Amino acid sequence: MNNYTCKHNNVEVEDYCCINHFLDAVIEEVFDTDSDFSSTTIIASGELAQDLIRLLLSATMDDDDDFVFHMGMVDFDSVEYGQEYYISINTDHEVWCEPVCHDGIYYTDEADHIYVYEDSDYKILDKVGSDNITIFGFED
Ligand SMILES: [Zn+2]
Repeated sequence: MNNYTCKHNNVEVEDYCCINHFLDAVIEEVFDTDSDFSSTTIIASGELAQDLIRLLLSATMDDDDDFVFHMGMVDFDSVEYGQEYYISINTDHEVWCEPVCHDGIYYTDEADHIYVYEDSDYKILDKVGSDNITIFGFED
């Protein structure tokens, strides 16, 4: 997202070593009762989106085998839709997934913390209403 300026003045950029450590950080924040974040959305497309959903839904805590998250509505099209998804964790610890773009119309998202994968379409940043946005990538 080089050279991009948008209406948000609090965009952070963070690199993670891998998808697992990225999700560890996201999940830790969701369960941190001292943080102000009760809803979280990750914006990603393609294989990354698929892997994020898969890993979130199969995540367990260290000390027991129960899954951390329930499945909300997951609308994922691996055949034709090639754009980004909103992958959201709500206050009931449900994982939801929906396409950012429906027939050319961009939907909005207002999670407390929004993570945007660095290769995402810049236009999406203008559609999200969050005071905390992190553009994330992975070290290679
Ligand atoms: Zn790692």
